[in-house]
Amino acid sequence: MITVEHLTKRYGEFTAVNDLSFEIEEGHVYGFLGPNGAGKSTTMNIMTGCLSATEGRVSVDGYNIFEEPDKAKRLLGYLPEQPPLYMNETPLEYLKFVGEAKGLRRQELTRQIETVILQARLEGVENRLISKLSKGYRQRVGIAQALLGNPKIIILDEPTVGLDPIQIIEIRDLIKQLGQEHTVILSSHILSEVQAICEKVLIIAKGKLVAFDKPENLEKLFMASQGVSFVAEAKKDEIDEILKEMDAVSGWQMKALENGSTRVDVQIEPGNVSDICRNIFFAFAGRKKALLELTSKKANLEDVFIELTESNEPEAERGESNVTEAEMKESYTPEAAVKKGDSEEREVEKE
Ligand code: ADP
Ligand code: MG
Repeated sequence: MITVEHLTKRYGEFTAVNDLSFEIEEGHVYGFLGPNGAGKSTTMNIMTGCLSATEGRVSVDGYNIFEEPDKAKRLLGYLPEQPPLYMNETPLEYLKFVGEAKGLRRQELTRQIETVILQARLEGVENRLISKLSKGYRQRVGIAQALLGNPKIIILDEPTVGLDPIQIIEIRDLIKQLGQEHTVILSSHILSEVQAICEKVLIIAKGKLVAFDKPENLEKLFMASQGVSFVAEAKKDEIDEILKEMDAVSGWQMKALENGSTRVDVQIEPGNVSDICRNIFFAFAGRKKALLELTSKKANLEDVFIELTESNEPEAERGESNVTEAEMKESYTPEAAVKKGDSEEREVEKE
């Protein structure tokens, strides 16, 4: 459906998108996941013909976006990060304007506007000024204009940024619904979001594609970021001796605790964490050393993200990243917030 080959975008000396290649197949919901500044918007702007590339090629259903932009763009509906909404128009006027620009006329235009108003659930507000609408409704107007012309592919850049928890749930539901009839690509810097909506995830970091898989496979891929921690009533050299003998243990750090016991963080090879916990338990019990705590850490997509973005950064640059670990570990779910009754406007965007 969309083929991106060796796409590169430079702004002067700065490379925002770096040799990106991937293929989007028909009928799935794809997520571009990456921290702020990763190059998601730049990539989407190029894929939709809104921005030129420095190098590389994008084809949409066989049409080269640079050589046959009109044919390629007809297949695409795009909601940019900052949609150009006209505040002193109504959704109806705005949709008419966009529809005409897309080449729709008369009955076809009227029919399509009616359809997208229903699809984006704008019934009842279509004659109110856009400036009077909530951010959630404005986002729906943006989605509605992307749907005009019934394009096969819908591309949405950070569609839930700045929305409150209830609006986020509604927009996510809407996107899932669109995914039944369209190929959808959305971007997000929130891991739980792509996990909730997307069937395939492209992780982009510093302009590079660092992973492309189903959310569940990414977790499997990075079982290595799993680990085991324990506190043992044993001295460091005794612990070294036990762990050295153990299969599937790739490394460990120890910290002596005040009560004479030792806290140990163990890195393990991909495999069954329960087996490793069991082996640790019996190895210490066999030597009559008590384990006071034993816990395992399961890898999730958030760990994968951190792992991938870090392993793609040169050692010296780490820590300079403008994204903190806490930010990347964003695990905020609007569902939870709604349950807590927190429906106030919440800035999800961190910048
Ligand atoms: P994302 O959408 O993933 O947050 P962007 O694609 O917006 O990332 O930006 C990628 C990088 O390119 C950022 O470091 C950004 O500052 C830089 N960038 C984006 N647009 C421009 C521009 N017009 N001129 C210079 N740098 C830019
Ligand atoms: Mg962006």
